[in-house]
Amino acid sequence: MKKETCDFLVIGSGIAGLCFAIHASRHGTVSVITKKQDSESNTNYAQGGIACVLDPGDSFEKHIHDTLVAGRGLCNERAVRILVEEGPARIQELVDWGVGFSRSRESRNRNKLHLGKEGGHSLHRIVHAHDLTGKVVEEALLELVRANKKIRLYEHHFAVELITNHHLHRSANGKIRCYGAYVLDTISRTIIPVQAAVTCLTTGGAGKVYEHTTNPDIATGDGFAMAYRAGARIANMEFIQFHPTTLYHDRSHSFLISEALRGYGAVLRDQNGKEFMKQYHELGSLAPRDVVARAIDNEMKRTGAQCVYLDIRHAPAAQTRAHFPTIYKRCKSLGIDITRDLIPVVPAAHYICGGVTVDLNGNTSIDHLYACGEVSSTGVHGANRLASNSLLEALVYAHRAAEDAGRHLRLGAMPHLSIPAWDDSGTIDTEEWILLSHNMQEIQSVMWDYVGIVRSDMRLERALRRLTLLEKEVEDYYKRTKINVPLLELRNLVTTARLIVLSAMKRKESRGLHFTTDYRKQDDRRWKKDTYLIHHVPHR
Ligand SMILES: Cc1cc2nc3c(=O)[nH]c(=O)nc-3n(C[C@H](O)[C@H](O)[C@H](O)COP(=O)(O)OP(=O)(O)OC[C@H]3O[C@@H](n4cnc5c(N)ncnc54)[C@H](O)[C@@H]3O)c2cc1C
Repeated sequence: MKKETCDFLVIGSGIAGLCFAIHASRHGTVSVITKKQDSESNTNYAQGGIACVLDPGDSFEKHIHDTLVAGRGLCNERAVRILVEEGPARIQELVDWGVGFSRSRESRNRNKLHLGKEGGHSLHRIVHAHDLTGKVVEEALLELVRANKKIRLYEHHFAVELITNHHLHRSANGKIRCYGAYVLDTISRTIIPVQAAVTCLTTGGAGKVYEHTTNPDIATGDGFAMAYRAGARIANMEFIQFHPTTLYHDRSHSFLISEALRGYGAVLRDQNGKEFMKQYHELGSLAPRDVVARAIDNEMKRTGAQCVYLDIRHAPAAQTRAHFPTIYKRCKSLGIDITRDLIPVVPAAHYICGGVTVDLNGNTSIDHLYACGEVSSTGVHGANRLASNSLLEALVYAHRAAEDAGRHLRLGAMPHLSIPAWDDSGTIDTEEWILLSHNMQEIQSVMWDYVGIVRSDMRLERALRRLTLLEKEVEDYYKRTKINVPLLELRNLVTTARLIVLSAMKRKESRGLHFTTDYRKQDDRRWKKDTYLIHHVPHR
């Protein structure tokens, strides 16, 4: 990439970024940048599917109800209604774009989309492609993007900072505006200013903040940190979803055992083979994720066990293999036959419900900056995400954001600007990788030990003290070093970790995914509200 100007700059190539790009390309030119290979994203690893009301026995009201119940009073009901009501059109669009979802085998429903069931959903409404939904969707979207002449896709391009008034020495006049981003070409190691009329952040989540996560390595919270540094409003970062069941095996790095397996009938057992979920929730092993994750955490702490077990041995073996080919093969390769053996599992950080606040059309608090997908906070998830609502949220809100941005584009031309080159004078190339990897491990273990499934004031204070020190060290190092990917990711990771801790410290109650031993109850009178964080960028 050389110095670039486009109508829409999209940062990230997961489901949100690619959908935004496809819709936006009807209104102007699009550049998509992505920090690794194009398919490397959380999207690519999603197994379960996409929640959507398609069954005649289901209704929008039921899906809305299930979502609100999971969100524990913090969902934005208008955002949820939009999510649910616009879902079927977006799923149909994916089908039209060639996504090969699994079809029903029952004769009376032959050829209709097969609908799975997951924890927290009152009915079967999960559209899926076996247990490889994310990969199948990602591949189809990438194919469309690659064939689209209006879209340029740049792999190995890392967004370093959003360009705002601050960089242009322009007065903000009370409102910050985004003009694009500084982008590092990670192969040539040059930093390129990309000017865009509209910038859309679709950088995904931040699972790598924790020692154990289901997320791939790209999930270092870059979007949260960049937006925060630029002055965008951030909300509800304390609500981290821990997936209750990732495979516990010394040769497997956080492989996820999909919720769909419990929907299909698997039950959780302790080390003595006892089914324990009934004593925590009436839905037993199908209770919402936060309840299951806390129950497992409690069982492990109570018994000193390293893991608990999923049991699907009672289901017909051939059917289990057919429904869950990826899980079956992966476990088999590690010597676990899921049709005959118990599956050892532990919880791991999975999804962040909060993020960059947006309105119902994806507008952030910064002019000309949109956000969608996991990095955004639409208000859909509240204090806890209902399973399989996140891919749906990315689909619905990326579409809405692109349409809104298209209208925006027609209203105002891009200003003629001279964006200053990236200034790295006074920095040197150092090779102190040990500093970076050590700091990274320290952040991850502080977050795991003190800001995990169960929190307390004391643990959060301890985490904040350590993270503040680490952030200062990383910032000093950043200022004197020529930038590189590990350093940029570390910088974003520590900032995102601090945002999580600061949000968690503000909430003096337990609600949804935020559980603290100092305030064990939900307190609607004082805390039925979002937690906001904003960084006041100094004027030049
Ligand atoms: C194992 C797993 C299973 C899941 N299963 C389900 C499921 O069944 N159903 C469901 O609804 N949800 C599921 N989720 C959650 C869901 O997959 C994600 O929330 C969703 O895919 C997020 O999409 P996204 O487009 O916002 O981000 P991502 O898909 O993560 O894409 C982010 C993109 O941004 C790029 N990027 C990041 N930072 C930068 C930067 N600085 N510069 C340039 N590019 C950058 C990344 O490389 C990537 O291309 C699952 C998640 C995981 C990890």
